Amino acid sequence: MKAALFYGGKDIRIEEVPDPVPGPGQALIQIKSAGICGSDLHGYREVIEDPWFGRPAMDGHELAGIVAELGPGVKNLRVGDEVGVEPRHLIGCGECRYCREGHYEACRNRGMVDGKLGHSNGFAELDVAPEANCHLLPEGVGIEAASITDVYACAVHALHIVPPKPRHTVVIMGSGPIGIACAEAYRAAGAKKVILSGRRKALLDRIKKWAADEVIDVSQVDLVDAVMDLTNGEGADIVIEAVGGDYPGVDTALHVVAPSGTVGVLGISLRPQPIDLMNALFRQAKIMWINSYARWDGVPEFQITLDMMADGRFHPLEMITHHFPLDKIGEGFAAAANKAESGAIKVLINP
Ligand SMILES: [Zn+2]
Ligand SMILES: [Zn+2]
Repeated sequence: MKAALFYGGKDIRIEEVPDPVPGPGQALIQIKSAGICGSDLHGYREVIEDPWFGRPAMDGHELAGIVAELGPGVKNLRVGDEVGVEPRHLIGCGECRYCREGHYEACRNRGMVDGKLGHSNGFAELDVAPEANCHLLPEGVGIEAASITDVYACAVHALHIVPPKPRHTVVIMGSGPIGIACAEAYRAAGAKKVILSGRRKALLDRIKKWAADEVIDVSQVDLVDAVMDLTNGEGADIVIEAVGGDYPGVDTALHVVAPSGTVGVLGISLRPQPIDLMNALFRQAKIMWINSYARWDGVPEFQITLDMMADGRFHPLEMITHHFPLDKIGEGFAAAANKAESGAIKVLINP
């Protein structure tokens, strides 16, 4: 089969590699669509040595396709089924306390297979996945929408960890796919008002059409002042930090949140950040950490997400702006890495 091989940084080559073979309990998936995730871009923007992946690496954890072949013992899938695939690096060990309780996002051996990190390879013609990770697409959800279920599942997990009440005003900091998905999720869950902040006006105008009640362009106005104006000086009941990086998002969120409100942190920051502790103390604000997704009341959040797409409570097709065939994956990564120029929100590769 053809697959994208990542040699580090912008060096991505399409090469012929052996077809993967489905083992017991696994299905072979013909990949039809795979999303480029913000996390995929870390290794694209700078050459980082990744002890888990090695070089050249295969990659692509947001994927959907058609079941092409079944390994021994697969019971609930048929060749030809359209499936969204829960990525392999998120699978828990199945045995520890967290896995048994359905919190496999907290499993210490998450994604490990025989001492190595297993991961999905969506940027290829074929990949294998355990049967339990292949979710049949509900009526009305196409393969492209299903390939970004991973993004929306993080937003469903946010609802799980920081559920809104009908009277709540929610501020989402960050206009990337995760921020947009969170805005849609909090609207779907019945929050009174959802305000999203970002720094690209054209993008914000677009997002306001389907995902948020209000948008704040923080390249023009101060976020804290703008939120206070929109909330009669009270602040937001819930603030979701979906920016990450070196932006001091947690401290900013703690200045935007109302007294006794909750800050939910999804953004990934690699370096420590200072927090104004007196401000946080006087507000008695809670901080909740929202990592990935797993199960909610025993149901996979990945499945809940697909069902919410089927109901029309999520709008994944609005988020998908660009498509590239596998041969042009380099152009796809370039578009995803420079969103200000390309206008991209979510870029898909169609192997
Ligand atoms: Zn992702
Ligand atoms: Zn476990």
